[in-house]
Order: sequence, then structure tokens, then C-alpha cells
Amino acid sequence: MASIFTKIIEGEIPCHKIAEDHKFIAFLDINPNAKGHTLCVPKDEVDKLFDLGEQDYLQLLQFSRNVAKALERTIPCNRIGLSVIGLEVPHVHVHLIPINDMKDMSFQHKISMDQDEMADLAEDIRKNF
Ligand code: AMP
Repeated sequence: MASIFTKIIEGEIPCHKIAEDHKFIAFLDINPNAKGHTLCVPKDEVDKLFDLGEQDYLQLLQFSRNVAKALERTIPCNRIGLSVIGLEVPHVHVHLIPINDMKDMSFQHKISMDQDEMADLAEDIRKNF
């Protein structure tokens, strides 16, 4: 069965898109740790990061770096934290999280944003690419 991220990639499920090329997509996490929490996802559905081919792995990091730069230009923060987990969605994704504090990297710490706020934020980040 297709992962929820494959369904997003195929346009079956909506997302607040940040960036996309032929191999990767980035969109806002639906349940963010902090404002601007973004997921960078390869379009090929592979479960685990270190099972990606070497080129795909390096290109995912390069893509994530470009997204992180746009996040830094948009959201005042100390830095962009990066995490890879995958226990909930078995489709590789890099979490990029604008952080000011260690608690922003805790997946027990969540903020609430409504859909309009998420849409406006995604538009602001896209403008900063
Ligand atoms: P994990 O697999 O543990 O790295 O966590 C999966 C992440 O995907 C969580 O932070 C979820 O909030 C996020 N997530 C799950 N479904 C969606 C969705 N439809 N759109 C955006 N983010 C999602």
C-alpha cells in the first residue's frame, strides 16, 4: 500500500508545499514541533534513510539544505535542527525544524497552527527560495 507521503506526492492528499523537483518534495509537517517544521521526502518510496542509494542520499541532503536556507530566511530562529526518525511513516523524510531551544527538537512538544496560518507560512517560505 502506498505511504501517506506517496499519496501527497501523487496529489491524492493535500499538503502545504514548500519545494519540489523531479526527485524530492518538501512540505510543512501537519503536526509541527515549531513554526516552519518541514519534511523533505524522496519521491521514491524507500523506508529507511540509510537504504537510499548513495546518490539519492546525498541529493536528499542537498535538497534539504536548500529548504533549510529558505526556512532560515523566513523564520526568526537560532538555527535549523535536523532529525530523521520514520517510526510513524515508513517513507524516508528529513525533519527540518527551526529551533531556539532543545525542546523544539522534542516530538512531545507540539504547537498548534490552523490551515490558513500554514498556507500563509508556506507561501512566505516559497518566496524565500
Ligand atoms: P516519523 O515517521 O516518526 O518521523 O513522523 C512522521 C511525521 O510525519 C510526523 O511529524 C507527522 O506529524 C508527519 N505527518 C504525518 N502525516 C502527515 C501529512 N499528511 N502531512 C504532513 N505531515 C504529516
